[in-house]
Amino acid sequence: MAPKPSDASGKTDQHIITRFAPSPTGHLHIGGARTALFCWAYAHGKRANGSGRFLLRIEDTDQKRSSEAAARGILEDLAWLGIDWQDGPEFVVHGRDARATDGKIGGDTRGVGPYFQAQRLGIYDAYIQRLIDADLAYPAFDTGEELDAMRAEAREAKRTFRYIRAADYDREASLARVAAGEEHVIRFRMPAEAVVVRDEVAGEVTFPYEELDDFIIRKRDGFPTYHLAVVVDDELMGVTHVLRGQEHLNNTPKHVALQGALTHEDGSAFGVPSYAHMPLIFNADGSKMSKRDKDKVAKKAVRQSGSEAVSGGDLPTEAELEAWLGDKTAQLPSDQLVRVAEALAIDLPEIDVEDFRRAGYLPEVVCNYIALLGWSKGDDVERFTMAEFCEKFELGQIGKSAAKFDREKLLAFNFDTIQVMEPTLLAERWRAWCERYDPEVATALGERMPQAAGAARQRAKTLRQLREPLGFLFVADDAIEFDAKAVKKVLHKNDGEGLRLLPELGEMLAAVDDWSPGSIEAAVGAWCEGRGLGMGKAAQPLRVAMTGTSVSPGLGDTLSLIGKASVLARIERCVATNALAE
Ligand code: GLU
Repeated sequence: MAPKPSDASGKTDQHIITRFAPSPTGHLHIGGARTALFCWAYAHGKRANGSGRFLLRIEDTDQKRSSEAAARGILEDLAWLGIDWQDGPEFVVHGRDARATDGKIGGDTRGVGPYFQAQRLGIYDAYIQRLIDADLAYPAFDTGEELDAMRAEAREAKRTFRYIRAADYDREASLARVAAGEEHVIRFRMPAEAVVVRDEVAGEVTFPYEELDDFIIRKRDGFPTYHLAVVVDDELMGVTHVLRGQEHLNNTPKHVALQGALTHEDGSAFGVPSYAHMPLIFNADGSKMSKRDKDKVAKKAVRQSGSEAVSGGDLPTEAELEAWLGDKTAQLPSDQLVRVAEALAIDLPEIDVEDFRRAGYLPEVVCNYIALLGWSKGDDVERFTMAEFCEKFELGQIGKSAAKFDREKLLAFNFDTIQVMEPTLLAERWRAWCERYDPEVATALGERMPQAAGAARQRAKTLRQLREPLGFLFVADDAIEFDAKAVKKVLHKNDGEGLRLLPELGEMLAAVDDWSPGSIEAAVGAWCEGRGLGMGKAAQPLRVAMTGTSVSPGLGDTLSLIGKASVLARIERCVATNALAE
C-alpha cells in the first residue's frame, strides 16, 4: 500500500517519494527538465529530511510513439543536468561534465521496478481484471467509425461528447464476446459524482460529473492507457508527491477516481498522493515554448536561401524538404534539423535540453535558471547552487501564472559563471563539450586547454564561443591570412615602423626560455622599456604576425599558446609576406 499522503502543509511522517515520468517520444523538453528538477529538489529538500527519494519511470505505453533511443536520450540529459535518481533504470555516468559523480545512477533497490511501463503489462492486467470483476470497468467494442458518428451527433446537438455506458449494456454478453477473442478496449465506469482534486498550487478544484466520462484504461493493443498505468505505478512505487506540468491538471480527476476504485490483491485501497501542478513555460512573446519553434525558424531560413544548400547526403531529400516546408506543423527529425541549421549557419532557438547542451550552456546554470521558472522564494536571490535550491524549495512557493523563458537572462547567467569558474574546471567542462560537439578543438589544444579557456573566456557567453577568439590556433603557421586594414595600420604606417620591429622582436623572443604568458609579457615589456616604446608598439605588430588581425587575447597568452617555434615562424612569414613595396 502507498504511504499515507501528506497533509496540506506538505509535512509528512513518511518518506517523501517523488517521481519524474517522461514518455520517451523525443528529446527531453526544457519544461520536462524543470518538472524533473522540482521533483528531485523536493525529494532532497528539508521536508524530506534526508530520507526522500526521487524516482524515474519511463512511460512507454504508447508503442507507436515511444523509442528506446529517446528513453536513453532522456536519461542522458537528466544525468548531464545532475538530476540523478535513486530508483529507476540503471544508468552509468561517464561524462566529466555531469554534476553527478561518475558511476551508477538508479537501480531497483526497493524492488518496485521494472521502471519501463511496457515491461509491466501483467501488473496492470491484474488491476484491470479486478475492476472488471467488480463491474467498475467494462469491455467496449465500438469501432472508430461508430465513435466518430457519436461525436458528430454530439456536435450537432451542441453538447460535449461523453462516453457513458448505455443503460442497457449487456455485461454477460460483452464478457462472452471478449472470451471469444473479439477486439475491444476496457473502459472505466466513472462514478456519477463530482471529483475534487486537491492541488498544492491550484487549491481545491472540483470537476463536475458532467465533464467526466467512461475513459479507456486499456487499449485494443493490450497496453494500458497513461491514466491507468500512472495511477497503478504511483501507488506501487510508493509515490507520495506528484509534481507535474499544468497540462495534466485536467487528467487528475480521472486519476483520483481510479484511486477510489482500484484495490490491491488483498482488498486494500489505494492512497491519494499530494498533487502540485506547475505553470506552463512561455516564450518571451507569450507563445508556447514548443519543439516546433525550431522548425519554424529553420523553414524561414530555407525559404530564404533556397533548398539546394540543405538537401542530399545526410540532409533531407528534396521531396522530404518539400513536404516539410509545405506543412506548418511538420517537424524534421532533430538530428537532421541540426544539420540543416549547420548548413545554413543559423542558430535555432533552444527548446530541448540537448539544444542547450549543444549551444554550450553549463548544466548547473541551466538548472539554476529553470528553477526560477514558476518558483520564487519571495526574495531577490536569483543565483544559487542546487544544494541551496533543495534547501529553499517548498511546494507552496510554486506560482500559478505562466512563466516566461528569458533567453537573455539565461545567457547572462552562463556568461557570469564562465567568467568566475575555476580555470581547470572550466577547461574540463569545455573539453567534455568539445569531445561531443567540436572534437577538433579538443585534439588541437590537448594540454593547452586550461590556458586557452582562461585566455578566451572574457567575451564567451557559452562554451561554444570559447573557440571564437582562438581561431589562430587552428590555422597552420603558413596559412595565416593577413587583414589588409590591420597590415596598413599596424605594420605599414610611419614607413613600416611596426614591420621593422618584428625581426628584432623575434630575436628577443628566441632568447626567452620560460615560455609562460607571464615571462613572455615581462620580456616584451622590458624590451619596450629599453627602447622607450609603449607596450602597444610591440604588441600590435606581434598580434598581426600571430593572428593576421589586430585583436587577440592577452599577448602573453597568445604567444604562449601558439608555442615558441610557431611564434618565430609566424614572425618570419609575416615580415616576408607584408614587405613594403620599394
Ligand atoms: N508520461 C506523462 C508525460 O510525459 C507523465 C505525466 C505525469 O507526470 O503524470 O507527460
